[in-house]
Amino acid sequence: MFKEKFNLTGRTAFVTGSARGIGRAIAAAYAEFGARVIVHGAKPSVRLEESLADVRLFNPSCDVVTGDLGDPAAVEAMFARLRELDALPDILVANASIQMNIPWSEFDAAEAHHEMEVNFHATLRMFQLAYPKMKAQGWGRLIAVGSVQEPRPHPQMCAYAASKAAQENLVRNVARQVACEGITVNNLCPGVFATDRNAAALNNPVYAERVKAAIPMHDYAQPEDAAGAALLLASDAGRYITGSTILVDGGLRLPG
Ligand code: NAP
Repeated sequence: MFKEKFNLTGRTAFVTGSARGIGRAIAAAYAEFGARVIVHGAKPSVRLEESLADVRLFNPSCDVVTGDLGDPAAVEAMFARLRELDALPDILVANASIQMNIPWSEFDAAEAHHEMEVNFHATLRMFQLAYPKMKAQGWGRLIAVGSVQEPRPHPQMCAYAASKAAQENLVRNVARQVACEGITVNNLCPGVFATDRNAAALNNPVYAERVKAAIPMHDYAQPEDAAGAALLLASDAGRYITGSTILVDGGLRLPG
């Protein structure tokens, strides 16, 4: 049966930033398709507990790890904890990010560095930490969550867009090198999604209408809209997709 190719039973998935938003929707979908999912947030929170409860409905062996991706020692500690839980990932989704809304001429070095630390350096390090198990077993999925801002950078978010573009380049680089080891590496790019980071802006009806008008599908996305592409990239159905960028953006990247 072809649908068996989407079955993630026996796989362990680690989804960063899955307390809420897109990461939470991806974590829930992976659990529904059988994976043992390790949810993650920067810190313990009620929403992280709720996300854990959601995935445990499908698989009671799901667990939780916390840590600030802006702190390299915390990234090491997160993977040490995954090792203790016997939960080193078969599927890693580097989803968490930060984004700062600052004119490019006013960005200071510390802010730009922090954004690169969370959005790029932590992804590189997590890829490195996840790789040995994937290589040893001849199967793995490294998925970075990028942004429509790679092809279409927002003028107020130059460091964010640059960090996502760096991540996309990393994906193509690593994908080429591990393709013969049963490991795929891909970049999933959301457009405008109704998540916390956009809540204040999209609650302004004038701004929300302007955003919708700019999107060829004339609507922004809900978190679960990213889950189908994430499932494809994580599963055996997506085994021949590597080094790719998949945009889930309602056509926003298209010139209009
Ligand atoms: P979100 O709702 O803002 O949630 C962010 C998640 O990341 C939270 O669980 C948060 O943990 C975690 N996180 C934030 N900073 C962290 C840090 N320093 N260390 C560890 N974890 C941290 O995110 P989202 O809107 O769903 O976005 C998910 C991904 O899609 C991001 O990579 C984002 O760049 C990308 N994306 C989103 C949009 C959009 O329109 N929403 C568009 C393009 C790309 P806590 O819950 O503990 O705070």
